[in-house]
Amino acid sequence: MFTNTVLISINDLMVFFSVYIIGLTLLGYIDTVQLLIGTEHSLWLTLSLCALVGPLYTLARIINWSRNDWSQHPIAKKLAIYCDNDNKSWIDVASNVNIEFQSLTKLQIATNTVTKVVVTDNWIIQVSSYNLDIANQTSTKLVCFKVNTYTNPSSTIEDIGSTYVKYRVCTTQPGGKNFTLRLNYNDVENFTGKVTMEIVTMPKCEFPKRLRELCIDWIKEEITKNPIYFTNEELEKCAVCINATSDIKLVKRCPDIPAVDNNPACRPCNCPPRLCIDCLVKWFITTSIDLTKPIENLVQIKSSCPHCRSTFCLTDVSYVAYDPYYNTSGSSSTDNKS
Ligand SMILES: [Zn+2]
Ligand SMILES: [Zn+2]
Ligand SMILES: [Zn+2]
Repeated sequence: MFTNTVLISINDLMVFFSVYIIGLTLLGYIDTVQLLIGTEHSLWLTLSLCALVGPLYTLARIINWSRNDWSQHPIAKKLAIYCDNDNKSWIDVASNVNIEFQSLTKLQIATNTVTKVVVTDNWIIQVSSYNLDIANQTSTKLVCFKVNTYTNPSSTIEDIGSTYVKYRVCTTQPGGKNFTLRLNYNDVENFTGKVTMEIVTMPKCEFPKRLRELCIDWIKEEITKNPIYFTNEELEKCAVCINATSDIKLVKRCPDIPAVDNNPACRPCNCPPRLCIDCLVKWFITTSIDLTKPIENLVQIKSSCPHCRSTFCLTDVSYVAYDPYYNTSGSSSTDNKS
């Protein structure tokens, strides 16, 4: 890519210079006859000849590329490696790519002002001003090898826009070339959700936590501050994920504060433990937290029991511990062992 870029930049310069010389000639600043046959201004002749090198070189390359139905063009060569029984020439491959490219299901990510990454059902393509990289997803692995975070003193915890992730597209297609993608972290979720190839993450790549993940950590931390609720009844599976054991019980523990404006008062919940911590936290965030706005005081946020609809706050959430010898007689079930 670098070689191509340099060559084309030199060509651009030469073409510009040629146009400049032709312009000077047309405007009469240079005497063409004197230039070509005279010896008075030999410098001009030398410069004019030099200026022709670029366009002639470009022309030669274009003629070379155009041989055999443009099969020598760098893009055609990259497509031609995917020729098979169904796709006899690079034009057939290009036509397949075009059909998928026109699909509404394709994903298009602008990675900077001149480069974009396109993911279709079968292809991954990176297009820039002077280059096109393409790989078929069936013969390709995606290796995440670097995560760079650029911190800004004024950035907030919600701001993860300055994290970039580098992926190497490694193809096993004979003749195929690997290439590197550099994506903003905000685009990574969409990107990895769309690609169908295997994704390998190198051990040293650590992704920063998203606001939702941070929020989950904060809520869990808040709940661990509350007393544990002991029970001698065996805990059932979580009613939502049906996978983890229900380990959460709502126990009204916060001070009795009447409903204020849109903030309802907490009420006791008599439901047995029915949710695991992960499902409760997901429920709490989904029903009560707007992640697009700053969270002022987590403890004051209220949600409602998914079963009986009793309002609760995080102070009213307890982890449950099963103790077959725990005796609830004579003590409220909300009490805890010390
Ligand atoms: Zn669950
Ligand atoms: Zn309830
Ligand atoms: Zn409460």
